[in-house]
Formats: sequence, structure tokens, C-alpha cells
Amino acid sequence: MSRIGFLGLGIMGKAMALNLVNAGFEVTVWNRNRQKCEELVAHGATFGDSPKAVAQACDITFAMVADPEAALAICQGPNGVAAGIGAGRGYVDMSTVDDKTSGTIADLIHHAGGRFLEAPVSGTKKPAEDGTLVILAAGDESLYQEALPALNVMGKMAPYLGGVGQGANMKLVVNMIMGGMLNIFSEGMALGQKSGLEGQAILDVLAAGAMANPMFNIKGKMCLEENYDTSFPLKHMQKDLRLALALGDRLEQPLPTAAATNEAFKQAKKSGYAEEDIAAAHKVNR
Ligand code: NAP
Repeated sequence: MSRIGFLGLGIMGKAMALNLVNAGFEVTVWNRNRQKCEELVAHGATFGDSPKAVAQACDITFAMVADPEAALAICQGPNGVAAGIGAGRGYVDMSTVDDKTSGTIADLIHHAGGRFLEAPVSGTKKPAEDGTLVILAAGDESLYQEALPALNVMGKMAPYLGGVGQGANMKLVVNMIMGGMLNIFSEGMALGQKSGLEGQAILDVLAAGAMANPMFNIKGKMCLEENYDTSFPLKHMQKDLRLALALGDRLEQPLPTAAATNEAFKQAKKSGYAEEDIAAAHKVNR
């Protein structure tokens, strides 16, 4: 069985790494804030000193960090993944970043003799805990095949989408649509309630028709209960919208609805809801 590294133990990374440990993989973990490694070590993981040390010690190293800046930071420099990866080893970045960042990371890893796969995920905290994420893999196909046993522990499906960038682009498209849906849903809820409709009645009517979906049910309930416990931090959704808009700029693809949604999420961040769940975007509309 491969020795597995895992970098980044936030909301998602912690749950994914724990599933790998529980599935019997030999896992070495690292997190910028070292305290977050303790729970994993208590469950049988080994503590890694730096991204470099983890990449050196493991056959395949996975990462799940916040954004393009973080994804690059853990790869570069004397303690970065690229400094430790060596010939033949694999690096799988599961963070949500844009295709350009993913390409830069691929170049760093390839230059050091390693193999690279991007594998951002669709699904939030609960699917990460349940091992039912949808994993969007792209890049080195031999590494994809070797990583599949671990990907199948973390997710319910992991299609191979092609060359580096295709996983990142798929993820940004999916989240851009999700952000847009959440934004208009929140506006509709606010309008309905202001007009005197019961919030639950709006949810029930939506759930009975062609627009029924788990997100409206889950996030709608959170809005009604005013419980914004974080599964998907609002700041990360705004980052994904920003990255999708930049891709649209580059490809000269107009995205007026995504642009308006991005402004709504920026407003929610400015109002102090960055660390709360994406459902907290509703607080601006209420
Ligand atoms: P999170 O809870 O905010 O965790 C972020 C992780 O990134 C932490 O381990 C943090 O380390 C690390 N980090 C941030 N800046 C860093 C830097 N400069 N150098 C090194 N490490 C850094 O985020 P999350 O919800 O787990 O999300 C992780 C990624 O998955 C993001 O790209 C997000 O967009 C994506 N995603 C999230 C969800 C979701 O529902 N939560 C769903 C799909 C995809 P510290 O602990 O030291 O701060």
C-alpha cells in the first residue's frame, strides 16, 4: 500500500485525511497551524515537519488548502513540495484554484522530476466526512491510476477529465453556477418573506417543483433557523466566483449573472460574514 501524504487540514482536508487513515493507509500529515495535526496523529497519522518532508517521505502527497496563493506557497521555496518530491513521486492538489495556478504547480513538480494531478472536489463538509465527494481529476494519467484507491476512499466518483486545467475549469464552472443559484434563491426568499409569505412554505413549494435540489433544502433551512455554522466558508465561494470571472475575461466569455453574484458575495464579506457558511450571504438580503 502506498505511503500517503496530506497537506492542509482545514474543514475539508481534516475529514478527507481522516478517511484515508481509517481506510488503513499509512498517512503523514502537515498543516501550517501545527495544532490541527494533533487529532489526525491521535488517530494514527504521522506528523510531517514541512511540505518538503512529507513529499520526500511519501509515494503520493495530497493537498487541500485555501486558494491559489496557499497552493503555490506550499509548493515553492526550500520547504515546499517541489523541493522534496523527487523522481517518480506523485503530487495531487485537491484545492480549488484556477487553471493557470494549476499549470504553474504542474511545471514546478515536473521540473523537480515528479508527477502532477489536479483533483478539486465538488461537495462540502458532510460529503467529505462521508467519503462521497465528486473528485474532478486531470493531469498525469499514470498518477491518476495509482491515486484511484485513495480517491475512491475520499469520493463516490472521480472521473478523469484530461490535461491539467480541465479539473480546475470544471470546478469553477460548477461553483459559479452554485453561487448564482444561491444568490437568486436568497433574494427570492427575502422578497417572499417581506411580502408576508412563510419561509417554510416557499421551501416546500420549491421542493415540490422542477427547481427542487438539496442545496435549496439545506441552505434554506439554515437561513430560516439563522444558523450559519460553516461547511463551506463564504470567503472561498467569493474566491471561486472571482476565479471564474477571471477565466471568463481571459476567454472573452460574458458572465453578467456571475459578476452580479460576485458583488453580492463581496458585500457579504464586507459585512463580516467571510468565515461563516455561504448561506450567510442571505443576511445581506434579509
Ligand atoms: P479552510 O477550512 O479554510 O482550510 C484552509 C486550509 O488552507 C487550512 O489548512 C489552512 O491552514 C490552509 N492555508 C491557508 N493559507 C495557507 C498558506 N498561505 N500556506 C499554507 N496553508 C494555508 O478551507 P476548506 O473549506 O477546507 O477548503 C479547502 C479548499 O477546498 C479550498 O480551496 C475550497 O475552496 C475548497 N472546497 C471547499 C469546500 C467546502 O465546502 N468547505 C468544498 C469544495 C471545495 P491553517 O489551518 O494554518 O490556516
